[in-house]
Amino acid sequence: MMQSENQRRAYLKAMGIDVWLPRDSGDSSEAAPEDEAVSVPADAMDWESLRDTVSACTLCGLSQSRTNTVFGIGNPDADWLIVGEAPGAEEDRRGEPFVGRAGKLLDEMLRAIGQRREDVFIANILKCRPPNNRDPKADECASCRPYLERQIELVRPRIILAVGRIAAQNLLGSDDPVGRMRGKPHQLDGIPLVVTYHPAYLLRSPSQKDKSWRDLCLAARLAAEDSA
Ligand code: URA
Repeated sequence: MMQSENQRRAYLKAMGIDVWLPRDSGDSSEAAPEDEAVSVPADAMDWESLRDTVSACTLCGLSQSRTNTVFGIGNPDADWLIVGEAPGAEEDRRGEPFVGRAGKLLDEMLRAIGQRREDVFIANILKCRPPNNRDPKADECASCRPYLERQIELVRPRIILAVGRIAAQNLLGSDDPVGRMRGKPHQLDGIPLVVTYHPAYLLRSPSQKDKSWRDLCLAARLAAEDSA
């Protein structure tokens, strides 16, 4: 798909590449004066500037329809980083991830392995809600990716738990279904990563909870190994 020039610039900017624009036109062929090169690459941001950048982000069309960005929440020094798909309606309204029914189940899953919501860090592949909870599009995931990557660098978790297909496929760069990715250890930039079912799926298919319990036990084991 052809990207518009604006999308290309926005993407490059999110990747930390300064895009030079003249003061008074949309033509990028002429370099701007040095004092206009102000963007800080996402991979150099501290928590505060990352949060501010996300809340002002207009890199993709979802910025037009969101109520709130959903940055992520929890312990910035967490051992566990939970990565979901994208905010739903309730999350968009409250600006916090996993606060709906699926979130309640995620809290219970965490409690079962001795983790409280405030102990872990919870984030999503996308920081803005896709309309009608449709699947995130590739360009939306690409625009948001530097933010999540920086969150991973800042938290430096012992374990990443990818919940659901969208999170797992995006983080691992795979097209495999969850059923094939779960149940075994993966790695992301040297950090152990475990895939499990999305809690929304578990609400619809409670018989799969047993498998997700085994995934959580695997994740707990890997987190403990990593800290040994
Ligand atoms: N589903 C997700 O994947 N993330 C949320 O924040 C809420 C529901």
